Amino acid sequence: MNTPMSVLPGIKRVDKLYLELLFRCNFSCTICYHGEDLKRPDTVTIEQASAALAYFQTAFDCHWVCLLGGEPLLFEGLPTVLGAARLLGYRTEICTNGYKRRAMLTRCANHLDMLRVSLDGGTAQIHDRIRRPGSFDAAFDTLTWAAQRTSIGATCTLTADNIGTVPALAERLRDLGARDLTLHRVRPVGNAATNGVTPVTWDQTQHLHEQLTAMDLAPLSVNTDILLPERCPPPSDVIEKLEISPDGRVYLSCAEVAGPGRAVRFDFDSAALVTA
Ligand code: SF4
Repeated sequence: MNTPMSVLPGIKRVDKLYLELLFRCNFSCTICYHGEDLKRPDTVTIEQASAALAYFQTAFDCHWVCLLGGEPLLFEGLPTVLGAARLLGYRTEICTNGYKRRAMLTRCANHLDMLRVSLDGGTAQIHDRIRRPGSFDAAFDTLTWAAQRTSIGATCTLTADNIGTVPALAERLRDLGARDLTLHRVRPVGNAATNGVTPVTWDQTQHLHEQLTAMDLAPLSVNTDILLPERCPPPSDVIEKLEISPDGRVYLSCAEVAGPGRAVRFDFDSAALVTA
């Protein structure tokens, strides 16, 4: 029988659940870990998403969720899922590319504790090369709009090409009143593998750590700890980040995008983690 303790032995708490509602996206970024999955039509239903939230709240004392995709603003039931999360006591976020979709964002705003936009560097040149022309300005338009309505934050996937622009990105986010910048290291999976994206080295991340910790970024908080190799904590009874894809694959990592995978999956029909 798949009890929470038998599927993830020793784990008592999941700090943050990343729930991918669909694979589909209006972008196809050169570093996207979904790769070919971006073409898949799979989506989670509103009921399945709500049941997953209830499961993690009860089984793993989870109270913080980030809804993502693909592009979560393409998921018609997003405001309903956010409302369900709030009713369960979750702190709510979505992670979007911030490209247009203002009508959907407006419907979500009242249910959001933070709007998070994914940014792939501190300049339009580097970000748009990874994403699409005009996407950097569109993302900052969205952040500026959202800053009047809720807390804002950003996520940046670090590559050897964009890491040098992250201090400028942090400053711009701080000046806009953003509260959080979450950094992840790219892994060579999905589009990042086929496009030959160069991962960052520990020397590069160490240098970025020195730059960011020397800056006055308050009130922006940056997870600079993931930039140091000694950061990765030993196994404990807490999972900092658990991500579920629309087909039930499970990834655990606070430092890297989409990794590492685990020998468990989430069964949306029974709303439970099961052994893969
Ligand atoms: S990285 Fe995000 S915005 Fe880009 S294609 Fe993937 S899901 Fe879409």
